[in-house]
Amino acid sequence: MRDAPLYPLRFEPILKELIWGGRRLETILKKPLGEGSRYAESWEIADHRDDVSRVDEGALEGVTLRDLIRERGIELLGRHLGALTQFPLLVKYIDAHQVLSVQVHPDDAKGKVLANDNGKTEAWVIIHAEPGSLIYAGLNPGVTRSAFANALDTGAVEPLLHRFEAKPGACIMIPAGTVHAIGAGVVLAEIQQMSDATFRVHDWGRVGTDGRPRQLHLAEALESIDFEAGPVNPLDPTAEPIAGGTRERLAHCPYFALERLRLNGPTTVGSSDRFTILLGLEGDTEIRDGESAKLLGFGQTRLLPSSLGECQLVPRGESVVLTCVVP
Ligand SMILES: [Zn+2]
Repeated sequence: MRDAPLYPLRFEPILKELIWGGRRLETILKKPLGEGSRYAESWEIADHRDDVSRVDEGALEGVTLRDLIRERGIELLGRHLGALTQFPLLVKYIDAHQVLSVQVHPDDAKGKVLANDNGKTEAWVIIHAEPGSLIYAGLNPGVTRSAFANALDTGAVEPLLHRFEAKPGACIMIPAGTVHAIGAGVVLAEIQQMSDATFRVHDWGRVGTDGRPRQLHLAEALESIDFEAGPVNPLDPTAEPIAGGTRERLAHCPYFALERLRLNGPTTVGSSDRFTILLGLEGDTEIRDGESAKLLGFGQTRLLPSSLGECQLVPRGESVVLTCVVP
């Protein structure tokens, strides 16, 4: 474990079954699922309480991300983040077979007090959307705290939410404090702070697997919502030419920076002073680091340790890759 050279790491997916999930993590993203009908999330890179990713192939197979950070932090994370004791980002694929609850996440300060967890700013890149499926993101202009609190009492929350049709390829940034829900029929990739602090404000009148309504967290939500923020719309990135294709700068915040590469030839990614996360959004891509090559397939995720420095991405035909770094 201390000697094996690091390589582009792939982890075993941690699958979560929740009432709103389905089977599209398998039918679309090719994740091997069990028998259940409600697979909601595939945690691709995680280091959160009992959910810790394990390397799924190569010399480090079976080693946890937490142990890698403890024993090889600088090599993995780079010189700026090498002192961290927890991996800073959580990467998931989500299948919203049904609409998710209307929810909000706290910022770092409120997360600590209200949930004993990190804050949660997140970003989504939509992979698949059924016609007419919706994203709810932010409050309509002019919705005050008291108007929202009244709606929580009466259950008429939906009319206060800003919404738009979910379109494949759209990237949506959800800062902590933004009320949101992913609508039915959407499959997306989510990059977020390493946190599970979620405050549910409305669950569409449905009941959980035990036949009772799922718990809401109204007081915590009202504490966490940014009532000044207003509606959120998809980003409108421009594609700039790079070697091998184009690059679009997507979500950018202090926690993560996302870029989408559309490739028809080789290009370079990675850096010796930080790690890079790669998600395969379309097609197959080879990751070449010196002599060795690893495959990044559609629906897969790889972590490039900072010690690898620059690597080459080589599409098989054409591919689309999402890159994520801590800026
Ligand atoms: Zn969320």
